[in-house]
Amino acid sequence: MTKTPRKPTPGPIELMVLDKSRRRCALCFHVSGDLTEKLGQIAHLDQNRANFAEDNLAFLCMSHHSLYDSKTSQHKNYTIAEVKKARDRLYEAIEQGLHIQEARKTYVGFDDDRVTLQAIIDAMGGQTMTFLREFDFGNTFPISNLEGLKVVVLDRCHAEHEFVDRELEALRKKLVETGRRLLNLIVTYTFPLQNNSSGWVKIPDEWEENDHHRFFKIIAEMNDAANGVCAAYGDLVRAGRSKLAR
Ligand SMILES: [Zn+2]
Repeated sequence: MTKTPRKPTPGPIELMVLDKSRRRCALCFHVSGDLTEKLGQIAHLDQNRANFAEDNLAFLCMSHHSLYDSKTSQHKNYTIAEVKKARDRLYEAIEQGLHIQEARKTYVGFDDDRVTLQAIIDAMGGQTMTFLREFDFGNTFPISNLEGLKVVVLDRCHAEHEFVDRELEALRKKLVETGRRLLNLIVTYTFPLQNNSSGWVKIPDEWEENDHHRFFKIIAEMNDAANGVCAAYGDLVRAGRSKLAR
């Protein structure tokens, strides 16, 4: 009976090579700075498949591996010293985390999404968020404190204001949805104070006397909506900052 030779399972040294390279090809990095993950194999650089010394091993993508191994090629082939040098530079780059920054930067729309996130922070991040985090809606407030929220919910509602990244866009939609809920409550239940020209509003005091229960239910609902906006804003800014870091 013939037996097909069993492929040896990767030993600790091969696992170390996979770990140090993070499956990035030493030659792709060498020739074009490519730090994306590749389908590939561990090459024995001296072509001796029994030599498992760590210095003799490098992770190469399929096409660079077969190019390196080919003997008939007209191509002036990569030398063993050249591949080792490329591999050592790759390990340094991985150690510095360059492969992660690369992965973050490589989606289409990255720069547009940075602009979109910054516009939301510029609109809401100052006065509006300070107000929403601290205010109790049982009190009087200037409607201008919600200007930033209006910009994000009502003005920035077109395709060019959306994130390209799906996760960030889902978080932006959530922010718009919670913001719309709060603005609807404010439009429905607050009214301008008598004799005021500067846009201060309040839930009418008479309501407290006429229907105490309803009055406090409305306040609770508005405070809850404001908390929802704060949470949605926090989720978006945190995800955006980590995803869009350079
Ligand atoms: Zn390659």
